[in-house]
Amino acid sequence: MSSHKHTIVIVGYGGMGSYHTQLIEENGRLEVAGTFDLLEERRSASEAAGYTAYASYEEVLADPKVGTILIATPNDVHKEIALAAFRAGKHVICEKPVAMSSDEFIEMTQAAESAGRVLMVHQNRRWDEDFRVIKEMYDHGTIGSLFQLESRVHGANGIPGDWRHMKAQGGGMLLDWGVHLLDQLLFMIDSKVASVSSSLSFILGNEVDDGFEAVLQFENGVKAIVEVGTTNFITLPRWYVKGTEGTGVIEDWSLTGRIVTRNQESEKLEPTPIRAGVGLTKTMAPPSEGATITEALPPAAELASSFYTNFADVIEGTAEPIVKNPEVLRVLKLIEAIFAAAETNQTIKDFDLY
Ligand code: NAD
Repeated sequence: MSSHKHTIVIVGYGGMGSYHTQLIEENGRLEVAGTFDLLEERRSASEAAGYTAYASYEEVLADPKVGTILIATPNDVHKEIALAAFRAGKHVICEKPVAMSSDEFIEMTQAAESAGRVLMVHQNRRWDEDFRVIKEMYDHGTIGSLFQLESRVHGANGIPGDWRHMKAQGGGMLLDWGVHLLDQLLFMIDSKVASVSSSLSFILGNEVDDGFEAVLQFENGVKAIVEVGTTNFITLPRWYVKGTEGTGVIEDWSLTGRIVTRNQESEKLEPTPIRAGVGLTKTMAPPSEGATITEALPPAAELASSFYTNFADVIEGTAEPIVKNPEVLRVLKLIEAIFAAAETNQTIKDFDLY
């Protein structure tokens, strides 16, 4: 491990750019050398927070003490900022979605390769604890084999900010939140996506989607339902998963949740019929007492290191990236298939992510 800290300049000192300064400060291996933003007010905010505000991007690129550019601008300018960084011999950390299309991302990875520099995409939600609990259940069969996963994020605040409303800037919820939820699923599920169907919602009247639902069928039989909504005044659970031996739920970011499994010890008891609505049902009656066991969620699966520590190891040549570019490319291609499925109202089967 190198004894000196790796210097980073954050390009785009908005919401996420300023959050990165906090996260980098918490990590001992990296150091913020300054920021650059097109807006004067954001440059002043950077100075006020104690970070040098460069006057231009050219000035950042010409500074030999800057090793890495962290791109936290709107999505439509990620590519041009990254290409200029590689020409200047800098490494790049880029926010998600890394690019407007899979073709753009291929151009970025080729430029990184020709320059012999690292390009790592900030798919930070692989480290989310809720996701890692589900990954633990998937990897270790806590409730048997998981065969259906429902991954949702629901808000009631509409699409935030300005550029997220514009198609030309890479707005919309599929690119914004979809890229996280799909990245998690493809990182976890060790099987190819066989088919995709989807629908986008435009309830708020924007030119970009304010939410979507996608159904992914994997070759190993696993089905995933991914849903993002920004007009949900009552939220559904963050995760609802079904396994061959039970069911799991994670309600929220605080990890309120539980797993319920079949009690193997108990003899098979018939449930008692209940009145349901105006009818009578045994099928939908709760299981008999003792027929199931309710337990706490398992501990989260561990990832080797944090995003930033992993980045430092990668540029020092001592580790493989946890977020690998071929994986990022696969997610972008999947997003393109989801857009196509929604547009044509067809289940898409003949797409090539691999
Ligand atoms: P934002 O609008 O708050 O900030 C963007 C900033 O970039 C603005 O200050 C703007 O002036 C500046 N900017 C625009 N073009 C520029 C350019 N060419 N050069 C320099 N500065 C420029 O947006 P945000 O919410 O911070 O999102 C920024 C990026 O971060 C997006 O790609 C978004 O998807 C991503 N993001 C990631 C996460 C995550 O958890 N990984 C969370 C939020 C946002």
